[in-house]
Amino acid sequence: MSDKKSIVIAGAGIAGLTLAYKLLEAGVTTPVILVEKENKVGGLARSFTYHHNSDTFVFDIGPHRYHSDDKAVMDFVLKILGDDHIEIGRASSVWMYDHYHNWPLRINTVFKLPFWLMCKSTLDMLIKKKAKSESFEDFIIEKYGKSLYMVFFKPYTEKFLKYDCSQLHSDWAKTGINRAVIDKRVKADSLIDVVRSTLIPKPVDTKFIYPKSGGNDVFCLYLEQKIREMGGRILLSSQITSIDAKGKDIESVIVNDSEKIDVKNMFWSAPIPVLLNLLHLDDKLPKLEYLGLVLANYLIDAPPEQMFQWCYFGTEKSPVSRISIPTMFNPSLTPQGKSGLCVELTCMEGDGIWKHPERMDVVIEDFLVDARVVARFNDFIDVKFERIPNAYPIYTLNYPRKLGLIFNALHNFRNLLNFGRTGSFWYNNQDHSIAQAMEIADYYMQAPEAFDPGKFKFERDFTK
Ligand SMILES: Cc1cc2nc3c(=O)[nH]c(=O)nc-3n(C[C@H](O)[C@H](O)[C@H](O)COP(=O)(O)OP(=O)(O)OC[C@H]3O[C@@H](n4cnc5c(N)ncnc54)[C@H](O)[C@@H]3O)c2cc1C
Repeated sequence: MSDKKSIVIAGAGIAGLTLAYKLLEAGVTTPVILVEKENKVGGLARSFTYHHNSDTFVFDIGPHRYHSDDKAVMDFVLKILGDDHIEIGRASSVWMYDHYHNWPLRINTVFKLPFWLMCKSTLDMLIKKKAKSESFEDFIIEKYGKSLYMVFFKPYTEKFLKYDCSQLHSDWAKTGINRAVIDKRVKADSLIDVVRSTLIPKPVDTKFIYPKSGGNDVFCLYLEQKIREMGGRILLSSQITSIDAKGKDIESVIVNDSEKIDVKNMFWSAPIPVLLNLLHLDDKLPKLEYLGLVLANYLIDAPPEQMFQWCYFGTEKSPVSRISIPTMFNPSLTPQGKSGLCVELTCMEGDGIWKHPERMDVVIEDFLVDARVVARFNDFIDVKFERIPNAYPIYTLNYPRKLGLIFNALHNFRNLLNFGRTGSFWYNNQDHSIAQAMEIADYYMQAPEAFDPGKFKFERDFTK
């Protein structure tokens, strides 16, 4: 055991890795230790590699790619990837009324929608209904009208989140729509914006960065290597099993019931309930719910049948919520003449899908052929199931109040800071986690001895 205190970072996802890298790069003198539960780094940004005979197939967790309006973030991504990147255009779709439509919608696709829906949506635009509550339902009806809400937003969201839309907070809509639109140049804040966007003669040409030599996690693997080279420790397959807190300080942690680490600062990007449990606060504070995700990764003995990178499937008829095609991000992810399909099934950890996803196999295969994503049943080579816990925070109506109580309690510790998607219950993208970790590192390095987590300015502040 060393007598020196360390900076302990829980979780080696993209946020934890970026923070460790930035602190070490800036010359932090305190040892940096990352504690990661999985046997590899990357968290939600990691990739899976499967071998079949002499073939190799690589899958990400759904669609992943690097894109940001923040120049500092993109400069950082490109610095880490170096030449190991490609630039790709966006190709995303939505499945409605048994047809694939470009997403964001284009004017030619609008005309493929049923006539009654266009008429009703036009009426909705003229007769606007003001939101009466903070709910997802009221927010969407005010912005996009009841017709589109009933046809698309409600069935998609309820299938995806397993929650009644009237019980969800409007923040799910605000962030979800930004996540789906991605490029700020595409305006989608209201139905009028959507209509205007479909009318612009040239669609917004969004460009993404993707690793050249492998899946999305290549960026994380470079960070891992550089952190180790700069002297940082990364403990894989490891968990903090107890925390010794005295008054306002986290004094030490025990990793894997064996190694004691004295703590100078602790940065937490792992699930919040785990932290509350370790601090014995879980029975004093409200419960947060995360949505689980099961991936059915299909190895396909044919090139892609559809040309989307990812496609949303909103209708109740479809057993899946989204499908992505790794080959469409980087052709080298699957062997020539073959492809992959990453099928996302959202669920609650421990439910039927989580426990027995293989029971969905026949239903999914049937749907994939029916929806022309796969041409023939013979094209299925194999399917690999992956369980992803805590994939999404669930923004229920009262989630801001719950988070406020939790963060107020955690702010009592003067050397603890929660951050990242899972660690701050944030429906974000990887560029947001990178940006936040970069800001925390900058702020920390301004005065490491006087670092005050309570003064770090978060974009989202629930403590007021
Ligand atoms: C299906 C899906 C699709 C997405 N698509 C995109 C996209 O196209 N573009 C994009 O930019 N972003 C996308 N995202 C979001 C992106 O993946 C996240 O924003 C980003 O990876 C979050 O990184 P993080 O480090 O903040 O959190 P996480 O990745 O959640 O990191 C938390 C880490 O903590 C670890 N951990 C958990 N429990 C413990 C414990 N007890 N002890 C120690 N460690 C623990 C986890 O294993 C993980 O490594 C997508 C996310 C999902 C789920």
